[in-house]
Amino acid sequence: MIILKKIVIATKNESKLIEMKNAFEKLPVEILYLKDFGDTADAIENGKTFLENARIKAEFFRKQTNCACLADDSGLEVDALNGYPGIFSARFAGFHADDGTNNKKLIEELEKINVEESKADYRCALVFIDEDGTVFETEGVCYGTIKKIPRGQGGFGYDPYFYVEENKTMAELSLEDKNKISHRGEALRKMVTILKKYFSE
Ligand code: IMP
Repeated sequence: MIILKKIVIATKNESKLIEMKNAFEKLPVEILYLKDFGDTADAIENGKTFLENARIKAEFFRKQTNCACLADDSGLEVDALNGYPGIFSARFAGFHADDGTNNKKLIEELEKINVEESKADYRCALVFIDEDGTVFETEGVCYGTIKKIPRGQGGFGYDPYFYVEENKTMAELSLEDKNKISHRGEALRKMVTILKKYFSE
C-alpha cells in the first residue's frame, strides 16, 4: 500500500479552499482540511506583508495539526486608495466584516475621493512548511480595474467589482478560467511545480 504524504490546507475560507484543492489534487498527496482537526484556533495575522502573514498561518497551523501545511494570504490593492485594503482586505469594513460590507466600504472610499474607477491588483502569497521545517514560498499577482458597478455571481470577495476586461469581472469567470489568470492560480502553479520536484526526490 502506498502511504501518501498528508498536507493540510490551512484556510477556513471555503472559496479559497475550492480554488486551492483542485491544484493540489495533481500531486501525490492526501489533502486534509482544518475541519478534519476539529475546532482549531485562528492565527494572529500581524505581519506587514502578504508573505509574512502566510508564513504566520503556515507555521501556526503546522504546529496545531502536526502535519505539513500550506497557507495562503491574499488581498486587493487599489491604486487610488494607495494600495488599500491590501493585507486588511478580509477586514476592510471592520472586525466582523463580510464580502458585502467590505465591497460597500470599497465603493464608499472611492466615492469619498471622487474616483470613478481605479487600476488595482490582487496578490497572493503561498507558504508550504513540511513537518521537518522545510519551507517553500511562492507569489502571484493579477492586474485589473475596480469599477463601481458589480457584475457576476461567481468567485468571492471583491470579484464582482474587479474587472479583468473592459466589460467582464472576475465574478463572471468559471472557476477554471479564474484559476488560469488569478493571483492564487499563479502562486499555486508555481508551488505545485516546486512540490512535484520535492516529493519526487
Ligand atoms: P485572508 O484570508 O486574510 O488572506 O484575506 C483574503 C481577503 O482578500 C478575502 O477575504 C477577500 O476579501 C480578498 N481576496 C483574496 N483573494 C481574493 C479573490 O480571489 N477574489 C476576491 N477577493 C479576494
